[in-house]
Amino acid sequence: MTFLCSSRCRFVQLQPLRCLALLLMWSSCFVVAASSAEQVAELSLEMPAGELLFVVNDIYSDSLQQQRNTLTSQRQQRAEFCFRQAREACEAGDVAAALRGATRAVFFNPDHEAARRVLGYRRVGDHWAGAYAARRIETGEVWHPQFGWIAAEDVSRYEAGERRSGNRWISAEEDARRHATIDNAWQIRTDHFRVVTNHDREDASRLAIRLEVLYQLWRQLFGGFYLEPSQLLKRFEGNESSGYRSKPFHVVYHQSREEYNMALRRLQPRIDITLGIYFDTTRTSHFFAGPDQDPGTIYHEAVHQLFQESGRSARDVAKHRNAWILEGVACYFESLQAHQDPSTGPFYTLGTPEAGRLPAARHRRLVDDYYVPLAELSALGMTDLQQRDDLPRLYSQSAGLATFLIDGRQGQYRPALVKLLQLIYTGHDRPTSLQELTGQDFADLDRQYQEFIAKLPSPSAEGQAE
Ligand SMILES: [Zn+2]
Repeated sequence: MTFLCSSRCRFVQLQPLRCLALLLMWSSCFVVAASSAEQVAELSLEMPAGELLFVVNDIYSDSLQQQRNTLTSQRQQRAEFCFRQAREACEAGDVAAALRGATRAVFFNPDHEAARRVLGYRRVGDHWAGAYAARRIETGEVWHPQFGWIAAEDVSRYEAGERRSGNRWISAEEDARRHATIDNAWQIRTDHFRVVTNHDREDASRLAIRLEVLYQLWRQLFGGFYLEPSQLLKRFEGNESSGYRSKPFHVVYHQSREEYNMALRRLQPRIDITLGIYFDTTRTSHFFAGPDQDPGTIYHEAVHQLFQESGRSARDVAKHRNAWILEGVACYFESLQAHQDPSTGPFYTLGTPEAGRLPAARHRRLVDDYYVPLAELSALGMTDLQQRDDLPRLYSQSAGLATFLIDGRQGQYRPALVKLLQLIYTGHDRPTSLQELTGQDFADLDRQYQEFIAKLPSPSAEGQAE
């Protein structure tokens, strides 16, 4: 089955993210991190919707030294506090919260050894690297942002415009000519992804790093989907984990929209209406370079891939039911926004009311009174869904519903959502699984969703909602 996620969110966002409010809240996190768990809970109640997450610096990022420079004893204490919280979360069975806590610990102290171990890193020289990156470093290679992994001794010749071809050196132009087609493409490998491209190594390296960031964020919300608390607890107790996939997520990055269309039309006749696609049959995502590229679509399709390939998945998942939630969760990640704070570095938000399809979901539900009740929606399989005339509106509704299940009611339904996704991906779900897992009738969930969406702040944007 193909995830034909053709519907692009065309809602015009005129209002920039309210960075100030988020930054204020973020600075409150500092205070909270040093105080008590009760205050952390109190703080999260203040947030109408959305997640604020961090990622850890590693070999693929360049600001590790800057972070080390800002290390103070206060930050060390906060790191310890976050790490204790992480362990408690793991003992309580909440893998995602444990990974969030360990990530925060590393955010405060980039050299927090135990938190690094929990997240799958080890120290190699002056770097923190996942197990795959560590192996490459140990064989004398370096990660170069323009070229990916190359031998340390080759760096100066690469930077001077030469390229290695076996035992010979050739020009950059000749190298590009030899990699002009996808069949002879370059490969950029990171700990979790292999990006194959005939476009440009530097751009493909940036894409691979964006996908690594997505992976870090995804596991802080859905780590419990693929990782048992007992497995993670072993890492807290000192066990090293391999920390990387022997089979990376496979991504093809085409040089242009036209090449993408041509290469994939045979597999998907309606490829022209897509902005990226994931095939679970070949376990490959395809994206293209150029002005039509849509970051939200990249996250959307990659999230399909992360869920499909992180555990043992059935064939044709959601073929007969529950297709909406697979799309809804992927649409939720379209709301991913990166932010930069000058003093402390990058942070990320997801599911904020003005991002992704949430404004459209709100508009449809509250202004247009468009809503397909969950009882009806859950009975739709993937083909049913894709044949609907109201597909774009169903996508925005599904995004809204997924946001409600992730963030609504202080995350009350998030464990049920993770379980539902596990059932769907292993082929053990039923049309009524959501009711059974949440302990709520569909009609009650319909009503709670309306209340949730009505309480979201109204974005000032004007535009055509999808
Ligand atoms: Zn999709």
